[in-house]
Formats: sequence, C-alpha cells, structure tokens
Amino acid sequence: MLLQELIRNVQDFPKPGIGFKDITTLVGDAEGLHDSVIQMLAPFDETKIDAVLGIESRGFIFAAAMAFHLNVGMVPVRKPGKLPYETISEKYELEYGQDSLEIHTDAVKSGDRMLIVDDLLATGGTVEATIRLVERLGGKVLGCSFLVELDFLKGREKLSGYQVESIIHYQSE
Ligand code: AMP
Repeated sequence: MLLQELIRNVQDFPKPGIGFKDITTLVGDAEGLHDSVIQMLAPFDETKIDAVLGIESRGFIFAAAMAFHLNVGMVPVRKPGKLPYETISEKYELEYGQDSLEIHTDAVKSGDRMLIVDDLLATGGTVEATIRLVERLGGKVLGCSFLVELDFLKGREKLSGYQVESIIHYQSE
C-alpha cells in the first residue's frame, strides 16, 4: 500500500488556491499510522536521540508515536498562550502577517539531542522558528522529519545545514 494514497487532498481549504493535505485519513488507518511512524524514524536509526519535538498540532500525532517507539520523551511546541509555564517564543512569517510559537523553558536541556517532527513541510517558516527555539535553549537539532513535503515551496532551502527527511513528496499543488 502506498502511504500517499491514504492522504486526502482537500482543494481550497482553508482558503481558495490551497490544496490541503488531510492526514486524518492516513492516521485513521492502522497500517498507515504504523508504517508512517516507522518510515519517519528510519533515516535517524543510527542517531542517538534524547527527545522528539512535535509542532502543534498535527506534528504531535507523529512525534508522540515516534517518542514512544524510541522510549524517549516528547516535547510540544505550541501556538501562543497554550503552554502554562514559563516560555520563550519565536515569530515567523505567514503569507499575510506573522505568527509565533512557544516552548517551555525547561523542556530542552543544554546539549539535548532533539529530533523535530511535523506532518508537513511547506515554506519552512514554522520549522525554522522551532529550530531557533531549541537552539536558544541550548539543544542540538539532529534533524527534521516530516511525513509530507511540498517540494515546490522550497522550504528545504531555509533548512540548509540540517538533515531534512520526508516520506511523501508533492511536486505541485
Ligand atoms: P510552513 O511553515 O509554510 O512550512 O507550513 C507548515 C505548517 O503548516 C505545518 O504545520 C503544516 O501542518 C501546515 N500546512 C501548510 N501547508 C499545508 C497544506 N497544504 N496542507 C496541510 N497542512 C499544511
């Protein structure tokens, strides 16, 4: 079974012109969830990972399963105002305007070897801000693992110097 066939493309969501890659159909399938988690970890097989970081909210699904599989902890990076304890935040550019992401200041210790996980790499702004959060806390970013990459948005170019892995690639909308 091809994992890509389990992803549903929803045209014009959340706004006209966007082809939204709906992963709920993939994670709702036992084999789809299992195989995607194993494949997202495979490139980092030989790497010692201290914790897996997931980006709100679909990144949590994969990051938690990967951390469970590795028997390490999972760190959430969240939208503003969601994390209850002391946080640091980083802004990133959206198509129109800015948004920001937060992490608990004690979620990453100096020298921690972190794997960053999200469902999808588009322009790369989200993961770039996440890398800055980890590095500000003294963590080491081992790499970034995505289920889907929208190659035509060239997000990978923002991440030079980091190992970037994706299972499923789209060359166009
Ligand atoms: P970016 O910062 O542009 O790389 O956007 C990545 C974030 O936005 C990820 O957390 C994705 O879940 C979400 N995202 C962006 N574009 C899409 C899309 N076409 N389908 C589904 N999710 C998307």
